[in-house]
Amino acid sequence: MNITKKGKFGRFGGQFVPEVLMPALEELEEAYERFKDNPDFKKELDYYLRDFGGRPSPLYHARRLSEKYGLKVYLKREDLIHGGAHKLNNTLGQALLAKYMGKRRLIAETGAGQHGTATAMAGANLGMDTEVYMGAKDTRRQRMNVYRMELMGTKVIPVTSGSQTLKDAINEALRDWVSNVEDSYYLIGSVVGPHPYPTIVRDFQCVIGNEVRQQIMEKEGRLPDSIIACAGGGSNAIGTFHPFIPDTDVKLFAVEAGGSGLKCTDKAALHSASLSVGEEGVLHGARTKILQDPYGQILESHSVSAGLDYSGVGPELAYLAETGRILPVNAEDSEALAAFHELSRMEGIIPALESSHALAYLAKAADSGELGDIVVINLSGRGDKDLEAVLEKVGQL
Ligand SMILES: *Cc1c(COP(=O)(O)O)cnc(C)c1O
Repeated sequence: MNITKKGKFGRFGGQFVPEVLMPALEELEEAYERFKDNPDFKKELDYYLRDFGGRPSPLYHARRLSEKYGLKVYLKREDLIHGGAHKLNNTLGQALLAKYMGKRRLIAETGAGQHGTATAMAGANLGMDTEVYMGAKDTRRQRMNVYRMELMGTKVIPVTSGSQTLKDAINEALRDWVSNVEDSYYLIGSVVGPHPYPTIVRDFQCVIGNEVRQQIMEKEGRLPDSIIACAGGGSNAIGTFHPFIPDTDVKLFAVEAGGSGLKCTDKAALHSASLSVGEEGVLHGARTKILQDPYGQILESHSVSAGLDYSGVGPELAYLAETGRILPVNAEDSEALAAFHELSRMEGIIPALESSHALAYLAKAADSGELGDIVVINLSGRGDKDLEAVLEKVGQL
């Protein structure tokens, strides 16, 4: 086991990985430092984000929602990005980085298939061999996403070991990376994992917050009073928040899927609220806040939204929550479902279930005054992928 101080956010982050992974991480860190400010790299990435991805995404004044809640609500429309979510910002960035590093092959793992699909898009577009590990159980539950990836030329590898879900897929992807590191790039889907991934993924997702800043200045001539984003691993949240961290008048709310918030001590009831009630531990190569039992065993998370169903959270968010700069809050499944229906009806936008948690916090907090007068909500994705899950849930109610 190798433990370094690099890539720390306070006590969080770092590199807690087997020695065999260190050369690969060092090569990645060195390459990222070399290319991140390279004008050719930046120009090419901007081009793909714009002409392939559809950036910039609009900042939309949700007029009817604003009227209902008595404050001005803006939605950052990541649901309009190619693929229907913010995930492409990251997969395009990392796939291009891989290309600049001289790699010809992308490896990724996926749970429900959303990150795998976004990786498949970037891989096909940049002409790279792409292989995605997916728990065998998940391949059966998510047949359409498997087919989507295959349509785009990605090889989906079902993982039959262990519980046949995401954590087993992660193990297999890492094993592949270690043995094929000369020509292969491991593309992580959120601000998690060992350094330098949390920094790399954050930087690629900061395009969201940078655009918000420019757009809100154009529309309002000032910064918003608060920004709300949902947090699974935390990539859309940190990407939206990060450019505003020095602006201490802007409140930053990270909404996790879970029960009754900070006061709740029954972790099993908290679904996946690792920021609010998680404890410190090491998960997937980094020290962060995770859901674990008193013996350090990782607790399975539970949420209606696949994208929020993760037992940990990015180390930088854990740090920012601890220092009080971001405010971790919660929305329950039922609250997210109500928000899902409300936005669909009132604005003609069907939000992803993940994003519905951010919307739900508006409904919960609007009356308290804590949000101020101008609120930006990051609409991380569209909800077309969730219709079956919602139908099932509504049937159960
Ligand atoms: C994957 C996903 C998320 C959760 O991932 P983060 O890394 O926390 O952003 C949120 N919203 C949507 C639409 C997603 O697809």
